[in-house]
Amino acid sequence: MLTLRGRGPRRGNSLSQLGIVKDGAVLVRDGRIGAVGPASKIEKLVAARKAEKVDVAGRVVLPGFVDSHTHLVHAASRAEEYQLKIQGASYEEIARKGGGILNSVKTLRAATSQQLKRRARAALEVFASHGTTTIEAKSGYGLDVAGELKILSLHKELSAEQPIEIASTFLGAHVVPLEFREKASGTDEYVKLLTDWLIPEVAANGLAEYCDVFCDRGAFSRSQSKQILEAGLKNKLVPRLHAEQLMRTGAARLAVELEAASCDHLEQINSSDIRVLAKSDTVATLLPGCDFHLGLRQYAPARKLIEAGAIVALATDYNPGTSPTMSMPMILSLACTQLRMTPAEAITASTINAAYSLGRHNRIGSLEVGKQADLAVFEVEDYREIPYYFGVNTCWLTLKNGQVIYAAA
Ligand SMILES: [Zn+2]
Repeated sequence: MLTLRGRGPRRGNSLSQLGIVKDGAVLVRDGRIGAVGPASKIEKLVAARKAEKVDVAGRVVLPGFVDSHTHLVHAASRAEEYQLKIQGASYEEIARKGGGILNSVKTLRAATSQQLKRRARAALEVFASHGTTTIEAKSGYGLDVAGELKILSLHKELSAEQPIEIASTFLGAHVVPLEFREKASGTDEYVKLLTDWLIPEVAANGLAEYCDVFCDRGAFSRSQSKQILEAGLKNKLVPRLHAEQLMRTGAARLAVELEAASCDHLEQINSSDIRVLAKSDTVATLLPGCDFHLGLRQYAPARKLIEAGAIVALATDYNPGTSPTMSMPMILSLACTQLRMTPAEAITASTINAAYSLGRHNRIGSLEVGKQADLAVFEVEDYREIPYYFGVNTCWLTLKNGQVIYAAA
């Protein structure tokens, strides 16, 4: 049993400390962890005598994965662009021709809430079947009032209707929508729509905890990003940032300056950015699934970030254009082979550190008394086999608040 007990968030060497208990047991009461430790001790507790027993002997138990970066609600895959990319077109070339994010905007606007919900629910079941118990989900494929509110309302409805916990993020600043691109002042007008209208509307209706911006070439500049995130802060939306993915823009420093919860991607950061991040409480969330799916060679400098002392987290970036996966174990495999993180570091990054980036480290991310009984059980003998096997699912059982939400057949 990997408890991940102790202080969160984890930096440097402490990313390797999994708090392993051999022959462990967890006592669950009212959805929370009542006791945790060696089975010989837990089984003797008075409360344990009447408890229903789930035997997971010979397997590895760990906290449910926290996937802190997803674009859950979208209408369709972009498989045709996948083929174009394989045949040589770049992600940005496809975007310039109205493909990419704008392609997903077109299909989302045309889809009904029912259709979107059905697709998202199916995805959430796949998340659960790979050991994930909490996700963050972003809007950003509506890019108009109706579309963005449609996505954020679905986050709220899905939170009430199914077991996976969803932290909602407003990403109206994903890209500038087509109808604003014709005029020279269109981007400024769209930023104004976000800051003066959509952000206050989203906050007033309690539809998001976070505000995110895609700060990059072809999306929003550093100064526009700052304006949008400050409007979010004024409305009590905590900043997150898509930063330094395609080119270095200074977004990581902006994230630190605004005390953002997280800055994500970071393929293009330099050593001085790493130092600034390492001194901050802003989480460096790495998304290797994106580079893998796009066939890119440049991954984020995970080793340098860890060695400098940054709080490193991992997430799937589940989205139809650049990272169509709900599998945290696959992301762990990529973190190990491509980012050179050890299996222990990758597990810490996708549990307690990811929970910290969502402001939930006091409730989830480790197996400790009082925390939610969110557990994943894997059909492996050694925790290192979780990333070692790739492209196959070794998840055996997933519990959210003590309830079974997935069991392997
Ligand atoms: Zn993203």
